[in-house]
Amino acid sequence: MKKMFINGCWVESQSGDTRKIINPFNQEVVEIVTEGDVEDAKKAIAAAREAFDHGQWASIPATERGRLLFNVAELIERDKEELAKLETLDTGKTLTESEADMDDIAGVFRYYAGLADKFGGEIIESPIPNSTSKVVREPVGVCGQITPWNYPLLQAAWKLAPALAAGNTIVIKPSEITPLTTMKIFELMEEVGFPNGVINLVLGAGSTVGNELAVNNFVDLISFTGGLMTGRKVMQAASNNMKKIALELGGKNPNLVFADCDFEAAVDQALNAIYFHAGQVCSAGARLIVEDSIHDQFVDALVQRVKKIKLGNGMNPETQSGPLISAEHLEKVENYVEVGKREEANLLIGGNRPNDPKLREGFFYLPTIFTECKSEMSVVQEEVFGPVLTVERFRGEQEATKLANDSIYGLAGAVWTTDVIKADRVASQLRMGTVWINDFHPYIPQAPWGGYKQSGIGRELGTTGLEEYTEQKHIYQNTDPKPLNWF
Ligand code: NAD
Repeated sequence: MKKMFINGCWVESQSGDTRKIINPFNQEVVEIVTEGDVEDAKKAIAAAREAFDHGQWASIPATERGRLLFNVAELIERDKEELAKLETLDTGKTLTESEADMDDIAGVFRYYAGLADKFGGEIIESPIPNSTSKVVREPVGVCGQITPWNYPLLQAAWKLAPALAAGNTIVIKPSEITPLTTMKIFELMEEVGFPNGVINLVLGAGSTVGNELAVNNFVDLISFTGGLMTGRKVMQAASNNMKKIALELGGKNPNLVFADCDFEAAVDQALNAIYFHAGQVCSAGARLIVEDSIHDQFVDALVQRVKKIKLGNGMNPETQSGPLISAEHLEKVENYVEVGKREEANLLIGGNRPNDPKLREGFFYLPTIFTECKSEMSVVQEEVFGPVLTVERFRGEQEATKLANDSIYGLAGAVWTTDVIKADRVASQLRMGTVWINDFHPYIPQAPWGGYKQSGIGRELGTTGLEEYTEQKHIYQNTDPKPLNWF
């Protein structure tokens, strides 16, 4: 049985409870892990508090913190194959996707390792004679971190690397259904050697362990990635002690295709935008909006390609798309397809589980396309988080941006056109944290990631991703103190 990591030790939960981790391809048990609860979370928070308050981490030179993070990146690369297999067994995504994730994760650790000692303060030109003024950045303190199941280790890396680079101590809780790679990276961090209490891992449910991280008065910052509804609960719980919050939530991301696009590239990437990881991606291009004059031709080209997508075991190199994460999630996706039908969207292809007996034990759903969709439909507005594409038509640039912005979300979106001036003009009008032009999905650790509107608060990655884990302090000094003779 696999354990949690608290105060430098691998421990079982106080309750002795366990949880089975299931492979979504065949429902086999991959691992049995200890199941933590509120008491375990409190212990981990106390350890992180003690380590922070006694300066065991923040007082270590930033260059040294960077060196340790750099070593983590090296170990991720050393164990890339094992980590990637574990991620595929746990999430069902293809091994190719998991391997790409591991490369990205090592890159994120390297980026923040390099940034750790390049984040000095600022000297301000004070307008008051005989004074100096400087602004320094300090770590926030104890950071609670909560991650989702779709990119378990990638999302953990986006939080762990900047928080540790900035000198914070952390308690992380991975999704209870996909904890395995986060557990493995703690083994790697133990090998690198972090002081006791600086890094803590608690396993367990969101309603218990997750809520405790959000509500606990000894936590100074809560960083959460997950769904909008859970984000609301986390925000409310965090108000208990007005801890800092960082929220990375859902999206319903528009993919705008103009008639003057590179047709082949746009078709190919529209498929990748939605069916990559079976659509279980916060930035999935689930909402395709196509210029009327090429709409029919574009949809025909999509359908021809969708028929050929190979579903299967993520471990098989021929598989192009794996299963959904769980029976519960499969049911949610099925329900959304029923909603789409009731709303009179035109179900063009898919809309069912596959018949293939080889896929019977997995949580598979066929790649699905709805056409003749209207902006007000729930299937267009809500995050389905599965392989379901809705297609709308537009006439003219103004209608295109209006439709793309008609959403409570604002995470990401794309524009396809060979007119570079139009591309920039449309990008500047889109209310979202990332806009891709003639591409979909890439992110880089050097640039910020996050959402406008209800897609979240704050940014991960880039220099902002590190700033989020710091407090700014203004230090003002009078260099010639004299009585004021005011009173
Ligand atoms: P979720 O909200 O169900 O769970 C996310 C995490 O929160 C899990 O660890 C869960 O245990 C925990 N949790 C649940 N209830 C909680 C509570 N009351 N208090 C504290 N923690 C609680 O999300 P999910 O289904 O795991 O992930 C899918 C969602 O994540 C999608 O909406 C997706 O768009 C979003 N996501 C966003 C980004 C981004 O960068 N914006 C990245 C990945 C995923």
